[in-house]
Amino acid sequence: MPHSGQIHKLGTYDVVVCGGGMAGVGAACAAARAGAHVLLVERLEVLGGLGTSGGVGNFCFGDETLPGGQGRVLDDIWDGLAAYRAIGEGHGWRVGRNPPFFNHTFDHNVLAIVLQELAEADGVELLFATDVIGADAQEGHVRSAILHNRSLCQRVEASIFVDATGDGILSRHAGAPVLPPDGDHPQSIPPSHMIYVQPSEDAGPQVVRRENPGEPVPQYSVWTEPDRVGLKMWWRDGGFDTSTGQGYSDAGRAFRRRIPEFVRHFQGTKQGQDSVFAYSASMLGLRDSVRVEGDYVLTADDLRSGRSFPDAVAHGCFPLDSAAITKEAMPPYQIPYGCLCVKSLTNVLVAGRCFSATRVALSSARIMVTCCLMGQAAGAAAAMACEERIPVRRVAPARVRRVLAAAASHDDVLRLRLGE
Ligand SMILES: Cc1cc2nc3c(=O)[nH]c(=O)nc-3n(C[C@H](O)[C@H](O)[C@H](O)COP(=O)(O)OP(=O)(O)OC[C@H]3O[C@@H](n4cnc5c(N)ncnc54)[C@H](O)[C@@H]3O)c2cc1C
Repeated sequence: MPHSGQIHKLGTYDVVVCGGGMAGVGAACAAARAGAHVLLVERLEVLGGLGTSGGVGNFCFGDETLPGGQGRVLDDIWDGLAAYRAIGEGHGWRVGRNPPFFNHTFDHNVLAIVLQELAEADGVELLFATDVIGADAQEGHVRSAILHNRSLCQRVEASIFVDATGDGILSRHAGAPVLPPDGDHPQSIPPSHMIYVQPSEDAGPQVVRRENPGEPVPQYSVWTEPDRVGLKMWWRDGGFDTSTGQGYSDAGRAFRRRIPEFVRHFQGTKQGQDSVFAYSASMLGLRDSVRVEGDYVLTADDLRSGRSFPDAVAHGCFPLDSAAITKEAMPPYQIPYGCLCVKSLTNVLVAGRCFSATRVALSSARIMVTCCLMGQAAGAAAAMACEERIPVRRVAPARVRRVLAAAASHDDVLRLRLGE
């Protein structure tokens, strides 16, 4: 790669958000709404990350407050889905109320349209099909992110960066530390993959051209949607090290190779007998990956005790659901600003599933609405830091809370949970 000084400069922004999943969209829209000039860089050609390309069409939470309490951007996403009849029992979308699990399924294909409409309406500039591949950082200050796309390498400068890549890509390029595996619960959840089948009057038996003898028995759970059924495929002990490029690639390949087997198996069930394969998610289902170390590391005990923090800027209450702990209910807890401030960097915030938490704490906080709220907090803080020309750590968390609460002016849940 050429030296960053030789790379063509794409532009200069107030805030550059890396990654356009639920956290990145939350961050970009919140920063733009606060008046910042924002660029969102996304590796794929669509917004939403796992929520769209991963086929995860289900907002969940640990109590029945949804859709309230998750900030204005999430409110707007919900309204957009409802306008397209893509969420809500009235339109045939399942709502689950089994405490402590509350779920609202939605159409993940429509979410991609809604997110783009929202970002464009907020004035966020979008750069799709572009990978963040480096950072030009000196003494903890990131001057530019190095990008790669059809124009080859480019760099983009910004006052503040938000790393919402799910893998801490920008932070790691800039030299930030990552968190080790939890001492007591070192394993990560095995990857999974979403495929979709739909009913067909002339459904024949699924052809399987390649059997996979000796591979672990396929398992899947079934998500019913109005016109199709999602199968969440996984198998135990696949042995994939998805923290490496090769391991991630191998996992994606292994799942795709076995799609015909899964479909044929489902056709053998009462529910699946008239089904044909429709499509599979383009993104591998990875629940946890790299977690970037922040000023504070959120722990499972913080969650269990429903801990309040003076610098709270987001909240959650979904059950712990990790490789080691299954479905342990949590009280409402707060997420402090320190978890979004990347250690050793002065102008980078992290949001979403690579934020600073132990792996077990992340197993609760990784749900989409919480990632989106973290993103909104990071976006609001980034706009403030930019406007006042201060390092991200000097932003007052109380001001971030007030901005979030003021935007959601009819939203008592958010005020209550953030202590505003
Ligand atoms: C199988 C499965 C089931 C789940 N079920 C639920 C559920 O029922 N309900 C729920 O709420 N949550 C669920 N989750 C969790 C949830 O989907 C994710 O934790 C959440 O969507 C993460 O959002 P994010 O924005 O942090 O990350 P992501 O969605 O991973 O978004 C990151 C984005 O960054 C982009 N990116 C990555 N690297 C780069 C780069 N170098 N340059 C530019 N862009 C980059 C990616 O393409 C992606 O769009 C599930 C997850 C899985 C895997």
